[in-house]
Amino acid sequence: MTTSHLTEDQLNELILRYYAGEKVADLIAAYDLRVAPNRIPSLFPPFVLEELPCPYCGRPLLQNAPTRTAYQSGHGVAPPFCPACGHQAHERCGCNGCHLKQLEKQREADRINRLIIERLRRRPRHEPIKVDDISFRDAVHLVALARVGLLEDSDEIQALREHSHALRCTQESGLSIVRELYERELVDLSFANAPGQITTDAEGRLDSDWAEVRLQLQLGRDAEESITVLRNMEARLGRRSAWPDHWKHEALPLWYELALDEVLPYLAMRLRDHHYEPRFGEKTIHVFRSLLERHSVYEIFNFIWGGVRDAASYQVRHSVSRRQAANAVLGNCQRRAERAIAEGWIVKHFRRDPKVPQSECTSFYANFVMRLGERFFSQSPSEHHCNLPS
Ligand SMILES: [Zn+2]
Ligand SMILES: [Zn+2]
Repeated sequence: MTTSHLTEDQLNELILRYYAGEKVADLIAAYDLRVAPNRIPSLFPPFVLEELPCPYCGRPLLQNAPTRTAYQSGHGVAPPFCPACGHQAHERCGCNGCHLKQLEKQREADRINRLIIERLRRRPRHEPIKVDDISFRDAVHLVALARVGLLEDSDEIQALREHSHALRCTQESGLSIVRELYERELVDLSFANAPGQITTDAEGRLDSDWAEVRLQLQLGRDAEESITVLRNMEARLGRRSAWPDHWKHEALPLWYELALDEVLPYLAMRLRDHHYEPRFGEKTIHVFRSLLERHSVYEIFNFIWGGVRDAASYQVRHSVSRRQAANAVLGNCQRRAERAIAEGWIVKHFRRDPKVPQSECTSFYANFVMRLGERFFSQSPSEHHCNLPS
């Protein structure tokens, strides 16, 4: 496959005739070429792209002669290359020059990322936090967060999105817990967040998606100290005799909060099953908070189940709008609960729906901290008022 039998002029003439579109079979015969018809361009010297110097050594790039079809369509043209350093003019070039340039870009992105994180971090490492100074609610949330997300032998906490268990029953409440812990300076932004993960708004305030943010425990001067404080906090949560006084008053409000966190997603799911749009405002929260004064989570599931079913049949019987029917749900639940009390019914317990995720905060609080187990769901928080340590 050579053109050594041709003079330079003959070769140039062949090239011109080829690209001018002359029949390939005629050219092969005329120039006595020993080559498959579609391989003719492989006999030509590469094009020299004088106007396109190599970015690394400045020499003009070369380009293998394309076939006629490729030349006309622009598709299937080999990328220009540098004969000296091996650079190829395409995005995935792995030549030494491109590799170093990529590393440099990466280093610069890392440097800027670090500056952004440094500026948004709450405060530098500090003296170990005293467990007594932390609220019961924050302590429970912090230990639950560490239980689902803390990496082995480290003070780094995985982003919520990577957790295998839900921190709270809804993603929304999980995210607000994480943000609170950051605002209270118990966790901070980790330097392990990749460039682009930590972003700011026009005023330079943090506006990252909290589900994507990797955190770092911030309870002491280094990782070891932070983990020691955390372990100590966990041990004290599990031993009521070791609770600071203020925890004893904060335990019951958290029960209500976590119970509501179980109830509302159940309601949302039941509404969605009936194609009603769940919209919860203060009224909804107030109603279910009051129901918890006298009823367990499992009983409330029952009221919700029946309350939504009643709304659906009301919609059909009276041909009211979907919106009107959905608005009736809250009142239905309330009426069912009030009648149950007035008439002394034993309300059948409804189990949690597997579609609503188990929350780490609830199970940590119910099983480890309060030793309630299933009673967290089957008894009203108020029944325990007198049993809480005083
Ligand atoms: Zn080069
Ligand atoms: Zn390159």
